[in-house]
Amino acid sequence: MNPRGYVCSSCSTVYSANELIWRCSCGGHLDVGRAPGLAPDEIDTGRRGLWRYNKVLESPPEGPSITLGEGMTPLVPVSWEGSELLLKLDYLCPSGSFKDRGAAVMMNRLWELGVRSVAEDSSGNGGASIAAYSAAAGIDCTIFVPAHTSEGKVVQTRMYGAEVVKVPGSREDTAVAAQTFSAETGVFYASHNWHPLFVEGVKTVAYEIWEQLGFVAPDNVVAPAGFGSNVLGLYRGFSELLAAGQIARLPRIFAAQAANCAAIHDAWKGTPAGPRIPTIAEGVATSAPVRVPEILEALRESRGDTVAVSEEAIILALKSVGREFGLFVEPTTAVCAAAARQLCESGVVGPGEVTVAIMTGHGLKAVDSLSGLRPV
Ligand SMILES: *Cc1c(COP(=O)(O)O)cnc(C)c1O
Ligand SMILES: [Zn+2]
Repeated sequence: MNPRGYVCSSCSTVYSANELIWRCSCGGHLDVGRAPGLAPDEIDTGRRGLWRYNKVLESPPEGPSITLGEGMTPLVPVSWEGSELLLKLDYLCPSGSFKDRGAAVMMNRLWELGVRSVAEDSSGNGGASIAAYSAAAGIDCTIFVPAHTSEGKVVQTRMYGAEVVKVPGSREDTAVAAQTFSAETGVFYASHNWHPLFVEGVKTVAYEIWEQLGFVAPDNVVAPAGFGSNVLGLYRGFSELLAAGQIARLPRIFAAQAANCAAIHDAWKGTPAGPRIPTIAEGVATSAPVRVPEILEALRESRGDTVAVSEEAIILALKSVGREFGLFVEPTTAVCAAAARQLCESGVVGPGEVTVAIMTGHGLKAVDSLSGLRPV
């Protein structure tokens, strides 16, 4: 079922993917071994969503037992500051965010391994997604969120039947609360930021973009980054395609962050740590990402970069995307739109290049933080 297994990023210990673990005994995070890539005729075109790439996923050959129709989201061309951009509408996944890619792959494996109750911490969308797949699978679910999380995401998570626990303090305090709960109760910690199968599922976005572009890679991909699953999923998927000889080179990967809380940006630029203060982009407000060396490797190997954007630029981009393109995204996603605009304006991304921006979360998730904004 799983020939690749998990490898520890710190001590290189190898585990079977049939083991019920979320990190190495040394405390390091685990990664799934690389898949061999895929030729166009190996796509299971009988399946519409991300399971059409089943051959490169850690899942049973016959496919998933739990699916909500995740994946195969639209790639919509728009014109932005004189450059052509392709917007990947991943917020059209079933729970309204790209997190469904990772949650679907992870929760299917946990279900097979006999897990019947999970807990995790989230800024909102990861928890909503895990709750959705838990509901579909009949798994008990407890989600820890920061006390200030958007009410839309909290209500959504509760509607899936999950228990929501609000934790005062920072995003990291929420993670500690969930891990303590899991350690004390024995409920499996199904963390989208730790479990190796989460990034494995998110990598399908790269395969999809490749297929949608007619089996070529774009020149550039821009993704919002908090813990970096999108950046790492893109890097993983396109690297597998490169190793298989299916694309000529990696797209440049750009990680977009909110300047108010830009840990990856600071690490990449090698500058002293900037502020770690609240941002309207709650989904990327991460002061301690767990996979920084891997994220920096993805940026380096792909000749990419980081972009940190101001709160004003985030709100401006959110409104522009709505008014100019008819797309309603949440502020976290507007970070990516703002970064894409900055890259076009500065000429880092040229007009003749194929550039994809990942639109990760639906605007309806965050109406409470947006209702006070004037439309234009
Ligand atoms: C979680 C999330 C992100 C950031 O993903 P990371 O894996 O933390 O980098 C971006 N956009 C939205 C809408 C999210 O929910
Ligand atoms: Zn280890």
